[in-house]
Amino acid sequence: MFKGWLLHKGDGAVDAALADIDEARLPAGDVLLAVEYSALNYKDGLALTNRAPVVRQWPMVPGIDGAGTVLESTHADWKPGDRAVLNGWGVGETHWGCLAERARLKGEWLVPLPAAFTPRQAMAIGTAGYTAMLCVMALERHGVQPGDGDVLVTGATGGVGSVAVALLARLGWRVTAATGRTAEADYLTSLGAAAVVDRAEFAMPGKPLQKERWAAAIDAVGSHTLANVLAQTRYGGIVAACGLAQGMDLPGTVAPFILRGVTLAGVDSVMAPMPRRREAWQRLARDLDPARLEAMTAEVALAEAADAARRLMDGRVRGRIVVRVAG
Ligand code: NDP
Repeated sequence: MFKGWLLHKGDGAVDAALADIDEARLPAGDVLLAVEYSALNYKDGLALTNRAPVVRQWPMVPGIDGAGTVLESTHADWKPGDRAVLNGWGVGETHWGCLAERARLKGEWLVPLPAAFTPRQAMAIGTAGYTAMLCVMALERHGVQPGDGDVLVTGATGGVGSVAVALLARLGWRVTAATGRTAEADYLTSLGAAAVVDRAEFAMPGKPLQKERWAAAIDAVGSHTLANVLAQTRYGGIVAACGLAQGMDLPGTVAPFILRGVTLAGVDSVMAPMPRRREAWQRLARDLDPARLEAMTAEVALAEAADAARRLMDGRVRGRIVVRVAG
């Protein structure tokens, strides 16, 4: 038996409870992982609070990411004692996830825990931070460089945003952080932001083309915010879009694309191919300041995950929450 969160669906309502689960109930997979740390990402918040249909099979153990030690393996790449990180692949949505002491997973989904990180640090980064790195890599593939102008990060006090600010600042960019919590300006400055702006500036419908302000942007927010960011992106610039915290819609025009040659790069972490994942984790080991990572991280016990998920969905969490699963 092991402890884990279990989501059951009744008459439309979802019940989330910390349960003792029989290991025999774990889904098929060729690696059994002893999860040491998991995390609370936006999607975990949605799943635990039933705010959006993230979970597609019931009952479900939530937790889209985890880090820990391999206990059993029939996969050629993994042996007992190896340390591994899991992000995405539908885990916590269609396959039982990592907000539990045990997870049975596919070996092909796992990335070796980088030597630079403890399991706790890997989950402080978690899917949000790994996605922020994928966004930075998308900007770099486009060819933009810090000398080209300012970079904007939206949803800046959130998980993706906090890691993006810290990474871009470390890489030499002048970072502007857009947030609804301007009282957190000192926090964002401590992560490396050079300027902090109110997200209200971006929240409402705007003109198709606006003053050119950004050489590049990372957007975790979508909707009018993304449309306005595109309209403010400089000639030839790029916006990496990964989130929908304001909304899934994109109420803009093609003007930034056809008149300014702006590029909109979509970023997905869930099904990202393995070479890109490994590159992202190597880059995180190189480019993320461990002190800044620690400064953006709070820890909760496994039993506290549902309460913390409610705080996350209410916009009362800054940065990242790691969930201590073992011990
Ligand atoms: P968090 O909850 O940690 O952060 C989201 C942030 O968005 C909030 O902190 C807030 O920042 C801002 N925000 C919230 N509501 C609104 C709103 N109505 N209008 C504008 N801004 C808002 O979530 P994550 O950082 O983990 O995830 C951010 C987004 O990225 C989510 O939509 C998530 O689904 C997506 N995501 C996508 C991935 C992918 O593979 N594409 C992977 C991981 C995440 P502030 O208070 O500073 O304004």
